[in-house]
Amino acid sequence: MKVVVIGGGMVGAAAAVALAQQGHQVTVIEAGARAVSEGDWDLRISSIHQQNVDWLVKLGTWPYIRAERRFPYTGLSVQSMDGVRVDFSHQDAGTPALGAMVENKALQAALWQQLIERQVPVYEKTSVADYQFDQQQVTLTNGDQLNYDLLIGADGTQSHVAKAARIGYRGWDYDMRCLLAIAEVEHEVAATTWEIFRPQGPYALLPLGAHRVCLIDYRSEREWQELLALPEAELYQLLEAQFAPHIGSHRVLSHGSFPLRRQRALSYHAYQSVVLMGDAAHAIHPLAGQGVNLGFTDVQELVHQVCQLPLAQALTNYEQRRVSANQRMMRAMDMIHFGFCSQHVVPRGLVALGLQSVRHITPLKRALVLRAIGYA
Ligand SMILES: Cc1cc2nc3c(=O)[nH]c(=O)nc-3n(C[C@H](O)[C@H](O)[C@H](O)COP(=O)(O)OP(=O)(O)OC[C@H]3O[C@@H](n4cnc5c(N)ncnc54)[C@H](O)[C@@H]3O)c2cc1C
Repeated sequence: MKVVVIGGGMVGAAAAVALAQQGHQVTVIEAGARAVSEGDWDLRISSIHQQNVDWLVKLGTWPYIRAERRFPYTGLSVQSMDGVRVDFSHQDAGTPALGAMVENKALQAALWQQLIERQVPVYEKTSVADYQFDQQQVTLTNGDQLNYDLLIGADGTQSHVAKAARIGYRGWDYDMRCLLAIAEVEHEVAATTWEIFRPQGPYALLPLGAHRVCLIDYRSEREWQELLALPEAELYQLLEAQFAPHIGSHRVLSHGSFPLRRQRALSYHAYQSVVLMGDAAHAIHPLAGQGVNLGFTDVQELVHQVCQLPLAQALTNYEQRRVSANQRMMRAMDMIHFGFCSQHVVPRGLVALGLQSVRHITPLKRALVLRAIGYA
């Protein structure tokens, strides 16, 4: 089958590698330049859950990711506003780790390296000038024309493929912003990721190495507008004061911030030959680090379906399975977001009760941790 993938981000590149390994003739079109991972950790980091780590190992991608830009974590802890805390460990799941923190650029670069070695054509700094869906053909901005049996839209939240195929979206802005900061820590940190909820939004830590962490702080757009206007030194002091009780002495090195939006495509496929995946199909609140994980599961489902069934049936099955799973996850994120941050006594009480139950009921804890790492 001839496959054209629009968007060579983590999801599009992974789809291209997986389909090329199945013997399909794949071409990738990427509007940007090839990702290069160099210097210190970039701010765009993903917590890849263990099921997807295992899948990336099977795909052969894992060894290509710069070793210093991937870091396994074995613990995960969540604390409510009322101070109720639950600690999950890889032992609860019976796995060697719960997942790994990976620099997005390093993962994308690893996938591209695999594509290059497999001689998969990758057009960088190129996009589609014209879609001829009825002829299953695209004309690129460099004038080349490509025919396809399957066109994959993995071109992110502003998907041109979805727009051209007239696939609409439903969604909203959370009116929140997430600040990420890389910090150097004096004393060694545990390989545990944690999140603490408070009324204005959670704050969290991703371990990136014995002495490197990513600090995360969610607040309303309005609050961040004021704080981001501060001189950088003052902003860093504020962050350091907030995180010092948890990690001791540390120094913030860089920061960046991202607005939060939830959206979902109203259909995942069109013309019996066009399919959306990753953020082009669904964008989710990042508080539980599930966005690219869902995208990788999209890839696994699509590959599974197209290997077994005629394309039209494969796309229908893909949509049915992925829409329900992705929407379940989106609703779960909303429940966590609104439930954990609510100051109202009822949701607060439910959250505290829920966390106490998880703490004390071992099978429930195991079920939850397996779900979080993609094994349920
Ligand atoms: C603050 C924050 C933290 C996050 N943390 C996590 C986490 O811990 N774990 C997790 O699983 N997820 C996380 N996510 C989500 C994750 O980053 C996204 O789900 C993921 O990047 C989506 O990958 P993608 O390949 O689908 O889309 P993108 O990364 O958006 O890639 C799309 C690609 O398509 C290209 N493109 C766009 N338009 C065109 C075009 N017209 N033609 C050709 N190419 C085009 C772009 O250049 C890009 O390379 C986080 C997100 C945010 C905002």
